[in-house]
Parts: sequence; C-alpha cells; structure tokens
Amino acid sequence: MVRLFFIALTIVSVAAVLATAQVPQTITIRAGTLIDGRGGSQQNVVVTIRDGKIVAVGRSAGPVTHDLSRFTLLPGFIDTHVHLLWHFGADGRFVSGGESREDRVKAGIVNARATVMAGFTTVQSVGEAGDLDLRKALDEQHLPGPRLLTSVRQLNERTGGRGNPNGLATPDQLRAAVREAKTAGADLIKLFASASIREGGKQTMTDEQLQAACGEANALGLRTLVHAHSPESIRASVTAGCTTIEHGNFATDEVLKLMADKGTYFDPNVGLVLQNYLEHKAQYLGIGNYTDEGFAAMEKAVPVVIDMFRRALKTPHLKIVYGTDAVAGAHGRNIEEAVVRVKDGGQTPMDAIVSLTSRSAESMRVQDRIGAIAPGLEADLVAVSGDPLADITVLRKVAFVMKGGAVISDTTR
Ligand SMILES: [Zn+2]
Repeated sequence: MVRLFFIALTIVSVAAVLATAQVPQTITIRAGTLIDGRGGSQQNVVVTIRDGKIVAVGRSAGPVTHDLSRFTLLPGFIDTHVHLLWHFGADGRFVSGGESREDRVKAGIVNARATVMAGFTTVQSVGEAGDLDLRKALDEQHLPGPRLLTSVRQLNERTGGRGNPNGLATPDQLRAAVREAKTAGADLIKLFASASIREGGKQTMTDEQLQAACGEANALGLRTLVHAHSPESIRASVTAGCTTIEHGNFATDEVLKLMADKGTYFDPNVGLVLQNYLEHKAQYLGIGNYTDEGFAAMEKAVPVVIDMFRRALKTPHLKIVYGTDAVAGAHGRNIEEAVVRVKDGGQTPMDAIVSLTSRSAESMRVQDRIGAIAPGLEADLVAVSGDPLADITVLRKVAFVMKGGAVISDTTR
C-alpha cells in the first residue's frame, strides 16, 4: 500500500514536471554571428524561441536568456549515416553479436550522448532493430541524445530469399521485406547494392532487385539509402529511383553526373569512417571481414575517396549531403568528416555547413522541421567559439547545444 502510494506520488510529480514544461516559455539567444544553414550569415542578432520552436530572428537591444555574443550560432548538425549501437566491449574489441539487448542499448546511450554533445542534434542510424530500443530509452529516461531516425534493418540481395535454391531474393520477396521494414517502424530503407569496400565494392544486388526495393519504398513514401561503391552499382541504384547513394568510393565522373541529373542525393563518407577503422585496427582485426586484406583495401581507399570527393564537388548541381558512417570509435567525432571535406577536399566552409544542416535535412525530407535557423523550425542550435567560415576546425569546439528549445550543454559562461 505504501509502495503504491509512492508510485502514485511519483506519477503526480512527473505529471507536474511535464505540465511545467508545457507552459509557453520564451527563450532568447543573442548571437555574435549567426550562420543560418541555408548559406546566409549575419552579425549580432537575437533568436527568439517559444515552445521549443524558433519564432523570430532579428535585432534587439534588450536583455536575453543566453548571451552568446562572443560565439557563432549554427543550426544543430545532422549526420545522415551513423551506427549508434556499434561499440567496443570491455576487452576493447569490436562487439559483433552475442550481447544482451540491455548491454547494447547501454552502449548506445553512451554513443548518443557523445554525439549530441558534439553538436549533432539529429542522426540517422542505418541501422538495426536495437535503434528502436535506444530511442525509447533516450525518450523515457530523458537522456541526452540526438533525434534518431532509423532504418531498423538492412536489406541486401539475399533478404527474404533464404528458402530459394540460390538463396537470392526475388523482386517480390524484396518488396515484402520493404513493407515489413515499414511495419517494424523504419523511417527509411537501407540497401546494399554493392559489396563492402573490404571486399572490393562490386555490385551485389541486381538491377531488378534494386528496382523492386526502391520502387516499393517509393510507393510507400519511404526514402532509400543505398550503399554503393562501384560505378555499376551506383548507376543501377540511381536508375531504380533510389533516394541517396552512400560512399560511392569508385564513382566515375559519369555516374556523378547521373546522380546530379536525376536529383539523387550523394553522401560520400571521406573523412571519418576509413580513418577511424585504421586508427582502431587492432580492435577490429580478425572479426568478420576486418581482415588484413580488408584493412589494406581501406588504406588504399583513403586517397581514392578524396579524389572522388573533389570530382563530386566539381559536378554541377550534385546534392552532396553529410554522413560519416560513424561506427565504434567514431561516435562524438562526427565533425571530422567536415574538417576533411574542407581541408583535403577543397569544399568551402559555407558549403560544408549547408551540407551538414539544411541539405541533409532536405535529403531526409524534414527540412520543414530542422536544418536551419529560421522561424517555424525546431530550436536545434549549436554555438562555437570562433569563425568556422575562416577555420572549419572551430566546429570541433562546441560550447552550447540546444535541442528543441532545451539546453543540452552550455559551457559558454
Ligand atoms: Zn554504414
């Protein structure tokens, strides 16, 4: 009885807290410099936030809730390609299976915290069913973490085809797999059109399979993210109407132009994933396809992807979005992709920031909610000390993070 009473009391106090949080609340932030995520910037402006949303951006001389006049304010960063649950175990080695759901979610909570503290207020995990458990845990326990979209599972040439003589899925079986993913709660569909970079990156899904999977996803209003390294796998995916091409390590000028012509988004992961694997080689080596040959292939790929990225930047109208493919060892270092894109790839800092914010939001079809500092959008904001347009590395030093109007971290005072 006493326990019941306490439970009842707890419910009442939680309700009271929620009620307080729902009271219309106005927050103002003065920014020394504001970079809006859509290519614009201005000096000395005040952002007004009500009920977690930006309601105004303008000039004001009055007192503010957060005086960030010594800082540069940007929209919350977006990473369209992460694996939030990937982590190293107690022995320091990459964990590939064999752990409880609880342990996996616990690791994800640590990674989610590191990610949002680095200014990434939205990520897309591509993905596994545990993402749903992680998202639930973050929500229910009010833990710091980014908004989390997930593909829940990954589809390849064999998905749904286990009973077939050759083990390969028929187009109908892939369509069914897409519908099942949607039912399971997928925000998008992740496909493997080519092999891993550690296995050569050749096309693995047939043109028919890609047409079936991306066609079904399009019919359901779902986006498709396609892992594709070889030119053939990219061409087949673009032709099949898939939404975004991931990696594209061996993309030729011809398929880069094809993506631009078809309006396909391109997410080249050039600055973090390969480097992170090489830095953590001992922790991955000997597991699955993390072989010596696999590592040799990744080492060889580092300059190849930079060259590819330079050509991608020169491709008119190609919509380059921001994704890191952050795995174990990389969470919280997501901004390194931008540093490499600018420093080694030659992208302008402003274009890198647009890619990191509004263009990625557009590729995820959430540009009406996030990705820019503009009235009507969620107050997802990041402040850094210094001028990222002069030195992109200042984005590493995030001093303030707000998500949906709630301050996640603040070291500005
Ligand atoms: Zn990935």
